[in-house]
Amino acid sequence: MTMKKNSKIYKTLIYGDEVSLAVLDTTALVNELINRHSLSPLAAAALGRTVTVSAYLCSWLKGEDDGLSVTIDGDGAGGKICVSGNSQFHMRGFIEHPDVTLPPRADGKLDVGGCVGKNGTLTVIREDGDSVPFVGTSELVSGEIAEDFSAYFYTSEQRPTAIALGVKIGTDGKCIGAGGVIMQPLPFASEESLEQIERTILQFSSVSTMIKEIGAEGILREKFSAREWVDCDVHFQCHCSREKIEGILHSMGKEEALSIVKEEGKISVYCHYCNTDYTFDGKDVEKIFQGDKTE
Ligand SMILES: [Zn+2]
Repeated sequence: MTMKKNSKIYKTLIYGDEVSLAVLDTTALVNELINRHSLSPLAAAALGRTVTVSAYLCSWLKGEDDGLSVTIDGDGAGGKICVSGNSQFHMRGFIEHPDVTLPPRADGKLDVGGCVGKNGTLTVIREDGDSVPFVGTSELVSGEIAEDFSAYFYTSEQRPTAIALGVKIGTDGKCIGAGGVIMQPLPFASEESLEQIERTILQFSSVSTMIKEIGAEGILREKFSAREWVDCDVHFQCHCSREKIEGILHSMGKEEALSIVKEEGKISVYCHYCNTDYTFDGKDVEKIFQGDKTE
């Protein structure tokens, strides 16, 4: 029996403290997404890669209430991918066509590029305490996600970034290894460090297998000789709740709410992020407005 491990992000400095390194193990998170959305292996590979980089982006957030969202809209077979997360690494996300399948590529790997598509954009919206959220967009390069984020970091954030991502799905449809290695040189990094990043990232063409076999801490120790790091748990969590939706219905007004119930028989509100349906019948609506003063 194996214990279910939490997903985690690990960060440290390498190469004479000139390069910031993040290693992520998102296996548990990807399994939660597979269960929530009944993802096909291909959908899991695309959404899993996206949520892994999104969790990394969340590590830039400082304030307690800071959050961000990532949208990849590439006109591929899987449709749009949306992920959001916050500074506590509460992550959620969905893909428009969770049951997407495509024939494997010539090398036998899942056709993530075909699932995501490359005719479109990657957009990051970051709410980090400023009155106006930061919005960054870049054109998709290949739909392979690692390359697309690399282009995004370069053009939108002016930060060259080496990224390796992987999601390995077993024959039973469950994720057996998912995560990534992300390296970002600090502004004063030497030419030597930059070259080292380029050489090193090539070792991680199957990072999901490495995650499965030696784990994120194994990667830090064995591949980077890292001895210390900071780590944080990364969770699936959606912020929707019946109470929140009751609040929205309440602000709609009783008359409006009841007229929907009259027309449709009930009010249904669907949360894409966690695949949950909330329904309210006439009695539920009455309850929401109970205690309100009648004028
Ligand atoms: Zn939700």
